[in-house]
Amino acid sequence: MRVEGIETVRRILCVFPRYTSSFGTFEYAYPLTDGVSAFMPPQGLLLIAAYLPENWPVRFIDENLRPATKEDFEWAEAVFVSGMHIQRQQMNDICRRAHAFDLAVAIGGPSVSACPDYYPSFDYLHVGELGDATNELIRRLADDPSRPEQQVVLKTADRVPMSEFPIPAYELAEVKKYFLGSIQYSSGCPYQCEFCDIPGLYGRNPRLKTPQQIIAELDKLRECGVTGSVYFVDDNFIGNRKAALDLLPHLVEWQKRTGYVMRLACEATLNIAKRPEILEKMREAFFVTVFCGIETPDPEALKSMHKDHNMMVPILEGIQTINSYGMEVVSGIIMGLDTDKPETGDALLAFVDESRIPLLTINLLQALPKTPLWDRLEREGRLLADDDGRDSNVEFLLPYDQVVSSWRKCMEVAYQPEKLFARYQYQCEYTYTQRLKVPVTPEQKSWANIKRGLIMLRNIFWKVGVLGDYRKVFWKFALGRLRHGDIEGLIASSMIGHHLIMFARAASVGQQNASNYSIRLREASVPAE
Ligand code: SF4
Repeated sequence: MRVEGIETVRRILCVFPRYTSSFGTFEYAYPLTDGVSAFMPPQGLLLIAAYLPENWPVRFIDENLRPATKEDFEWAEAVFVSGMHIQRQQMNDICRRAHAFDLAVAIGGPSVSACPDYYPSFDYLHVGELGDATNELIRRLADDPSRPEQQVVLKTADRVPMSEFPIPAYELAEVKKYFLGSIQYSSGCPYQCEFCDIPGLYGRNPRLKTPQQIIAELDKLRECGVTGSVYFVDDNFIGNRKAALDLLPHLVEWQKRTGYVMRLACEATLNIAKRPEILEKMREAFFVTVFCGIETPDPEALKSMHKDHNMMVPILEGIQTINSYGMEVVSGIIMGLDTDKPETGDALLAFVDESRIPLLTINLLQALPKTPLWDRLEREGRLLADDDGRDSNVEFLLPYDQVVSSWRKCMEVAYQPEKLFARYQYQCEYTYTQRLKVPVTPEQKSWANIKRGLIMLRNIFWKVGVLGDYRKVFWKFALGRLRHGDIEGLIASSMIGHHLIMFARAASVGQQNASNYSIRLREASVPAE
């Protein structure tokens, strides 16, 4: 299905927009690493870069690492941009900068696919997934790279099957500068949670790559220098349970062959706890983290958001089951739901203590376009403009100030250093000890890897252990880890813990958005020219 017969050569500049400082991107941890300065390589743009005609030179810039320069724009004949709603302002800014060089700019990805009208200045809108629209865009640029007189909207009707996707052009990204590697096996989710745009955008019947593609991608990530953790960005790793079971033996084999060089992570619904056959294979494949959208511990709230599948096992029991296979649970939590009561914040804090989950992303409810929640709130007249200075576009049933102050209190209390390190201590003792005992590979014993570890330890000891104001709590935790010879646990927990503590402090005094989707504090992050 890939477009053929293109003889003209075009130089394409792919620019990925900056993220705003956010709870889930770990910026406060970067100064403790050995040079990490961005979160994950973007799958979408690297996929498009790989899909372009082979003879088209492509330059990839992630503005989370460095801004696109005058020289980049002068080099290019056309610019491609992709991103999510939260990067909307930055994407429009890239378009403005590219137009200053009279370049045609095309935008694709989830945000424009859901809301084409957010992007009036772009020359080409690529709506939908990789497919006939992509081929048409390539043909048009091959014929004429100049800016069209009017905006051209290209919609994918015929998608390229994921089994025919090329390997994303990881070689164009500076993979070593990312906190995590990324990979995608499936797209779509069979559930229909009220607030979620995934089923509307990508469908309810997950589309899949083949296990062989995933293995080839892992090999390529490794060749490009990714070590450490790789995150499956699939909307729901068990959206198609049979497909997950088909893939896992291949991952196990790959890990055995390569000496378990990568720790794996994914997103999955909490009902994964009912599938011991999947959990056991995940343990063998060295999955160490599962992100579960728990959203709320309140069963009534889960029911009304159509997330009943979270109640297939009691929530705390489900978390414990996942932990028992060596996997730490990371959880998404939403506040500001219609079912919230004045005591919801306290109930949430009790849940944080009981679940012993160290990392919970706690957000205010935000209505995303093309979701059932959006439609309902629109009918009820409860949708607010994005730019009215609030942290959410939802008119909550409780007073706004009460919801925000409850959120701030939850952030402040949940991430007090004593509480957070107590939860990490539990994970070290009861979860990490359940993990596969993997051999130490020559790669891990290499001087480069040892040096990396030493740099991180030096940074952690100096910036947290000496200069940090919670150093007493840190040393209590760190000495325990050192006594157990658990350097990896010490580095990972301290780095992420530092981010959580610092971010939560800023959040609790109103210096961070209460929603990952809010644009209130976002303008400052547009890169300078
Ligand atoms: S389970 Fe997760 S991905 Fe699926 S619809 Fe619900 S929130 Fe979205």
